[in-house]
Amino acid sequence: MARWPRYRLRTWAREHFPRPLAYLFPPGSKDCGRHEWFRNDEHTDICWHCTVGEREHVPAKIDPTSELWHALNQAARAGSSDAQKIVDRVVAEDEEARRTTRV
Ligand SMILES: [Zn+2]
Repeated sequence: MARWPRYRLRTWAREHFPRPLAYLFPPGSKDCGRHEWFRNDEHTDICWHCTVGEREHVPAKIDPTSELWHALNQAARAGSSDAQKIVDRVVAEDEEARRTTRV
């Protein structure tokens, strides 16, 4: 049976448990081996899964297969204004990525 990539269970717990419990599952301190990025501030991206992953910000295209993307859209459609704000940011990122990269 294939193992989950390192720290994915922790990431899941952080995203699904209520706040006080989620704090028990901080990102891992070793390289997760497969970083997944989110924008930390104007200039840097950091990894969802580990504290090792950090890079200069690169605008990211939307991954239509991402479970996180689907969950955010569901929450936004259900009326979450926080989720809608994130969806709007991700869409803006996607447009920036399409303008700045040629693939
Ligand atoms: Zn990582």
